[in-house]
Amino acid sequence: MCVSWQERFADTPDVLASAACRQTVVDVLDLKIGAGECIAMAGPCSVETEFQLIATALHVRRSGARVLRGGAFKPRSSPYAFQGLGLEGLKLLARAREESGLAIVTEVLSECDVSLVAEYADILQIGARNMENYALLEAAARSGRPILLKRGLVATIADLLRSAQLILNFGNPNVMLCERGIRTYETATRNTCDITAIPVLNELTHLPVIVDPSHATGKRWLIKPMSLAGVAAGADGIMVEVHPRPDEALSDGEQSITIAQFTDMMAGLRAVHDQVGDLHGDPVLPNAVLKVGGGR
Ligand code: PEP
Ligand code: MN
Repeated sequence: MCVSWQERFADTPDVLASAACRQTVVDVLDLKIGAGECIAMAGPCSVETEFQLIATALHVRRSGARVLRGGAFKPRSSPYAFQGLGLEGLKLLARAREESGLAIVTEVLSECDVSLVAEYADILQIGARNMENYALLEAAARSGRPILLKRGLVATIADLLRSAQLILNFGNPNVMLCERGIRTYETATRNTCDITAIPVLNELTHLPVIVDPSHATGKRWLIKPMSLAGVAAGADGIMVEVHPRPDEALSDGEQSITIAQFTDMMAGLRAVHDQVGDLHGDPVLPNAVLKVGGGR
């Protein structure tokens, strides 16, 4: 059976690319995400100390990052692991923005915290574990802040688009989709980075697409190759974990790169972005046809 992508994803009509809307550009401070520049979002998994955050911010800025990431409220697999600094972490992020000029993206875990996090952050991150937390999506949407929506651990592309549609329904058009790896039978890496999702989302939707190779792979040495692959596949940006001393990080040290590794990676990223920029033509939609239920 062959159906058009419009039919296949008919329950999320407003996220689909169309002749009327090919590409959403999300404005954040002086940034335009989705407008052709490859945006690097970089910083520690968790905000830990003022030194850790400000040193990271200043260094990644110098190497070309445009957004500083860092969790103040942390969703941890273990209830005994570091849970984040909370409000103190948000204040440190705001200080880092003042010092570096970088925009801030940070996760909001609960709808109760949305107004607080929105006061400090430029972009609200909805984490993978919360992709289908509809009360949180509604509150985050209503805050008016741009939203980085991470793909759930076991979410299909259609599931991701349904959550994006929900945010749009609550009046917030500034949604970025983030591929951060999905659970598969493969255990060599933390998750499986679904690189295919990047061109599919680019083709299918008008929303900017960000790839997060840190959570997708769980391994420091894989961040560079998978960032390059993500950009080659057409991502509008990357999100990577960077720490001045990854081995001492309170969370996700094994998947955090050093500042020197980030600098090296950014040079490669610029080269790939320049090379592939022209290769990604206009989306094939609205006439593209997707074969549903085809053989392997
Ligand atoms: C994070 O970015 O800090 C994070 C927890 O990511 P994810 O929700 O993708 O696991
Ligand atoms: Mn992390």
